[in-house]
Amino acid sequence: MPERIADEAILRAVDDGFARQVAFLQDLVRFPSQRGEEHPAQSFMAAAYEADGYAVDMWRVDVDEIRDLPGFSPVAVSYDDAFNVVATHTPRNATGRSLILNGHIDVVPTGPLDRWVRDPYDPVIEDGWMHGRGAGDMKAGLSACLYALSALRSLGYQPAANVYLQSVVEEECTGNGALACLQRGYRADAAFIPEPLEPRLMRAQVGPIWFRVEVDGDPQHASGAFSAGANAIEKAFVIIQALKQLEIVWNARKVDDRHFHDHPHPIRFNLGKIEGGEWTSSVPARCVFEMRVATYPGQRLEDARAELEACIADAARADPFLANRPPKMTYNGFMAEGYVLE
Ligand SMILES: [Zn+2]
Repeated sequence: MPERIADEAILRAVDDGFARQVAFLQDLVRFPSQRGEEHPAQSFMAAAYEADGYAVDMWRVDVDEIRDLPGFSPVAVSYDDAFNVVATHTPRNATGRSLILNGHIDVVPTGPLDRWVRDPYDPVIEDGWMHGRGAGDMKAGLSACLYALSALRSLGYQPAANVYLQSVVEEECTGNGALACLQRGYRADAAFIPEPLEPRLMRAQVGPIWFRVEVDGDPQHASGAFSAGANAIEKAFVIIQALKQLEIVWNARKVDDRHFHDHPHPIRFNLGKIEGGEWTSSVPARCVFEMRVATYPGQRLEDARAELEACIADAARADPFLANRPPKMTYNGFMAEGYVLE
């Protein structure tokens, strides 16, 4: 069959299977697969891969097996229920180059339910868009990979090399799920990740880092002497302001980056969580905040960490209370280098 006609036939076969693909995606969105709750969705993926005839490997991610590998991110939660799934297509005759199609099953928290117009896990389609947490990021990608291969199969074609369909956990906080696939031995000539960003191939990416800062105060009753106590929440803002200044410095460095120099704001220091205080009339004894920052491709993680730690230490030294009671910083998730595929 001439190549052109084959292309058109394949596109048509994808279209022919699209209603089934969308229904599959709806089923997948109904699983609330937030961090730590991915197991039922992963079992669903494993069953779908098996039904399509792939050899399926499902295993629990073991932190001890990956903790010494490059790309490992610190783990702050239990992996007792963190399962990866990989489906393998083995060709009749291996003549081509192998491919990994990787997607993540975990979704980020829904946020306040009263800000949703419907259940976040009810995949309603409206005006051609499917709504629901995880529908875009990135269960659509997982479904598309599976149905791309089944479109080929419906025409009697198959890839002429190994193809690995990977459904991984832990993408939204560490990347350790994909790392565990590498550790388990899954390699290919290329990997493609259908993340729902702009509809084009993305080759450069910043590397996120997560950290947590614990700030102590000196708890006193609010009616005490004007100078008594130190408010942990207000002291946390001293540190946060210093970090926001560092954000400006890091963004100014975009001029040196080939891929991000014309990006409006490539490095976001996101104050993602904050918790502090115990009682409205008590001076807060503790405030804890968590932040996500990012590095440019080529920036060394140890350099980035040293700058972050110095920023916090300097801000604490300049404060009369924090100088004697410096905040405690820990890394509690993403520790990823930026990346460029040349
Ligand atoms: Zn994603």
